[in-house]
Amino acid sequence: MGARLLVIGSTNVDLLATVPRHPSPGETLLGTGGQRAAGGKGANQALAAALQGADVTFVGAVGEDADAELALAGMRAAGVDLDSVVTVPESPTGLAIITVSQDGENTIVVIPGANAHVGVEAATTAVAGMGEGDLLLMQGEVPRATMEAAARAARDADRRVVLNVAPWMALDHDVLTAADPLVLNEHEAQLALAELGLSPDGDSPEAAATALRVAGTPSVVITLGAEGAVAASQDSPTTQVPSPTVTAIDSTGAGDAFTGALAARLLEGDDLTTAVGHAVRVGAFAVQHQGAQPSYPELDAELP
Ligand code: ATP
Repeated sequence: MGARLLVIGSTNVDLLATVPRHPSPGETLLGTGGQRAAGGKGANQALAAALQGADVTFVGAVGEDADAELALAGMRAAGVDLDSVVTVPESPTGLAIITVSQDGENTIVVIPGANAHVGVEAATTAVAGMGEGDLLLMQGEVPRATMEAAARAARDADRRVVLNVAPWMALDHDVLTAADPLVLNEHEAQLALAELGLSPDGDSPEAAATALRVAGTPSVVITLGAEGAVAASQDSPTTQVPSPTVTAIDSTGAGDAFTGALAARLLEGDDLTTAVGHAVRVGAFAVQHQGAQPSYPELDAELP
């Protein structure tokens, strides 16, 4: 059996409402939409990686409700191994309520529900089952204790960990510096610098990536939206990887498309800069299509 990607992360149902403008406190407005789709950063990245050809195992939690099957449907269809997903009777499946106004501004309320029950034991058991060459990928939507225990178990067993600390959470420093790579957007990179007490040599993303790497993180990737990404590793100088120029329709979940594709390429043995070069194209593909999971390309899709 080839190398596998283990994703320990969140899975939600996204509920989308379109409104003429955002309501004021106490106000009721009529909206349209009401579509429900699978989401959550863990599920999004697991799916993006699977569509790029990776063998993926997902560890997560859903409620005992009708949303559970919808939350898992995209991953199931793509062949992600869901045997380690647990059903939590006392919590609902995670829900993200997304409201988009006519000017394109959105507000999002995330109710973690069952995702708060992705626990240390399930995570470390899954890590203990990793084989040589397998890769662990996690995001910031599962409990901090779970992230830290799984990352440490992987590091101690000499398994590679890709950490996308999005949304940002203040992880212990030895966990941040175990990430190979640490994947952040520009905002999260600033929070990581502050957390580690680092003062980069200038304001550029290259300087931020270099500072994080010199602080002990083996490799760092900072995504820059339409500008692409910056990659820093011990093996090569800090490199800016431009994104193809495309007409963006909807950037929802582009960061997850990028990170899932990056992990899939690293699993295949690409060096960091080559993997980032592929991931920016997958991210650019995703912004050309509506939604998060429905916007992710399959392996044979023509990338920009
Ligand atoms: P999000 O939270 O919206 O998913 P993010 O903040 O995590 O995104 P970004 O840096 O905005 O991440 O985008 C991730 C990747 O998606 C970029 O590195 C790039 O490859 C692609 N991307 C995003 N926006 C654009 C765009 N307007 N044009 C081309 N590519 C884009």
